[in-house]
Amino acid sequence: MKKLLFLAALPVFIGLTSFIAPVNDRPIVIVIHAGAGNMDRSKMSAENIKIVTDKLNEAMDVGHKILENGGSSTDAVEATLNVMENAGIFDAGKGAIFNQDGKVELDASIMQGVDLKAGSVAAVMTIKNPISAARAVMDHTKHVMLVARGAEEFAKSQGLQIVDNSYFYTDGAMNDWKNWKAREDSIRKSGHNSIEEKPNHFGTCGVVALDKQGNIAAGTSTGGVSFKKPGRVGDSPIIGAGTYADNTSCAVSCTGTGEYFIRLGVAKDIASMVLYKGYSLQKALATALDKVKNLGGEGGIISLDKNGNFAIDFTTNAMNRAYIDKNGKRDVQIFRN
Ligand code: ASP
Repeated sequence: MKKLLFLAALPVFIGLTSFIAPVNDRPIVIVIHAGAGNMDRSKMSAENIKIVTDKLNEAMDVGHKILENGGSSTDAVEATLNVMENAGIFDAGKGAIFNQDGKVELDASIMQGVDLKAGSVAAVMTIKNPISAARAVMDHTKHVMLVARGAEEFAKSQGLQIVDNSYFYTDGAMNDWKNWKAREDSIRKSGHNSIEEKPNHFGTCGVVALDKQGNIAAGTSTGGVSFKKPGRVGDSPIIGAGTYADNTSCAVSCTGTGEYFIRLGVAKDIASMVLYKGYSLQKALATALDKVKNLGGEGGIISLDKNGNFAIDFTTNAMNRAYIDKNGKRDVQIFRN
């Protein structure tokens, strides 16, 4: 009887094994962004375009190599974001924008789709690579989010690199802060309360990746928005708002005016549209960005599913973005074409 059952199951088994692709043939994909914003194309020099595109390529290659070698999507996300955090040209890690006090305060989060594990840190001022601290929260605590001093002490205890806040300063961020400060001072002098201007956010970094095991992951790292109040936390470190990953739906990383992304729970909203409504990634992203726009916000989103389908969309006139798809095709763009 047992033998009969085994024989009956054999064709099914053979069918299944011939259907499952060998590990080396399984698709790997990486999609990254370095913020969305409104920028005059004519004001960006060819040299600056090259600096940004070279760095996007370099960061993406680091993650792609990990995926190629069979590493996990979580490792690829973290390593890619480390390159971006160290670059000194994005609003993440070194190069991040200043808060109103003229200090850098960083947020980051990471999530893996295989088991819905996630970690994040917010309002940290001395952790060189916030995405690695977020990863450590995920891997080595029973919590999801640590903030400020507690996050910094935890990062130190994990052997992560601790730096003085001045490590993050760059001339670009300093000039941006001086301009905001001058405008704020003159507005206050004229009797008004505070600056009403919208931040020209540009530079938050995010990555979504698919590995050979068929697992997706997402991560986001940022200094937040220009001239934010000290202690302000945006969407980027909030799981479900700026970052989400679930193998049954998709991995998502957002950029834009974080307050709107928090109020709408954008990253999880996209995953839910895909899972419960059967939306394509394109349709889910467009729907989510519409909701953000209707509230008065703007931004961009990258998303990827476990079959290697991905989507990139934004409502600003530019978004630093790049990908290597499952066929090895590579693209890097800054402006809307
Ligand atoms: N979403 C980020 C925040 O609100 C900023 C950005 O993506 O540009 O902190």
